[in-house]
Amino acid sequence: MIYVDNNATTPCLPEVVEAMLPFLTEVYGNSSSPHECGREAAKGLKQARETIAQTISCSSEQVIFTSGATESNNLAILGLAKGTKHRRRIVVTSIEHKSVLAPAKQVDEMDFELVHLPVTRDGVVNVDEARARIDDNTLLISIQAANNEVGTIQPVRQVAEIAHEHGAVVHCDCAQILGKESFPLREMGVDLASFSSHKVYGPKGIGCLVIGSPLAGRYIRPVLFGGGQESGFRPGTVNVAGAVGFACACGISAKEGRDDQFRIAQMRDQFENRLLARLPSVKVHGENSKRLSGTSNFAIPGISADMMISNTPNVCLSNGSACESGAISPSHVLLSMGISRELAESSLRVSFGKLNAKTDPLEVADEITLAAERLWSQLA
Ligand code: PMP
Repeated sequence: MIYVDNNATTPCLPEVVEAMLPFLTEVYGNSSSPHECGREAAKGLKQARETIAQTISCSSEQVIFTSGATESNNLAILGLAKGTKHRRRIVVTSIEHKSVLAPAKQVDEMDFELVHLPVTRDGVVNVDEARARIDDNTLLISIQAANNEVGTIQPVRQVAEIAHEHGAVVHCDCAQILGKESFPLREMGVDLASFSSHKVYGPKGIGCLVIGSPLAGRYIRPVLFGGGQESGFRPGTVNVAGAVGFACACGISAKEGRDDQFRIAQMRDQFENRLLARLPSVKVHGENSKRLSGTSNFAIPGISADMMISNTPNVCLSNGSACESGAISPSHVLLSMGISRELAESSLRVSFGKLNAKTDPLEVADEITLAAERLWSQLA
């Protein structure tokens, strides 16, 4: 079985599991408890927070641990909407993950005006359209760093500049960029940033929201209430073992990320070259844009993505929206890029990761080719 669905999730590295184990077995105290066992857990948590802050270039007090990027995105959007009565416009890009689009829709129903930012055919937010839609009434603009389906890198810095000219808060879903591209939050102009551990070879169920600027701090309010952990923004006993695993994964990506990405980019290019050489009618989405190094999203005309997935049993492929729900509907990202419904329904995503073998790109391309040729001949 070849796993090429690393944008959906990555395996936990053995070093990460090893770092977590003591916090599940010996240092199991509640990090808020005053006794020795609690203090040891709190020490581990503090260290984890510092490592993560260093990796994502913010200060450790700005890191609010959550259960992952979905929760962070919800806290950012719903929490901001609670914080002001004056600014009533929320702007989100049309290719955001559902965990941004869905809370934005909730806010729309709470007397805010929700505005979607269109993207080009190459899957990149149009900065001029952003300028036209962000105004002095705008509370928030939410723009992802990189798209999870096609991998396109977004013009966060340019959009953030426009937002700040109008005093709006910039939220960035960084779930896909961490460990792949350098993304210094302050230089990018990001006020709030969401992260997820399981996209960078850490455990599932842990991530963070960075409340990275006084502007964000002025508006954001908690949406859950309880014991006041995480500066009151995320009550509940903190997942210390998860945070330690997330931090370990961050440390590894800081050390090895650059070399990994170089290798991963070669794998993606090798895969696409082979696939296009053997199946010239394949259409690669976002190919003219700067993309995440491992991501390839492409359509095989005339064959539905689900048919391809069931005919390539040795490969873990994605139909683009699989990591959201498993529901069969054409990707909103591809539709926003102006791709026809028919082609969107025939689109697959391959995402290479650091544990893929050198031989995987050609093997995956060949398995897809064989399945496509077989299915086309059955349809003929
Ligand atoms: N945002 C993006 C861009 C993602 O790719 C994902 C994961 N599919 C999420 C948010 C949700 O992350 P989590 O699984 O940590 O809730």
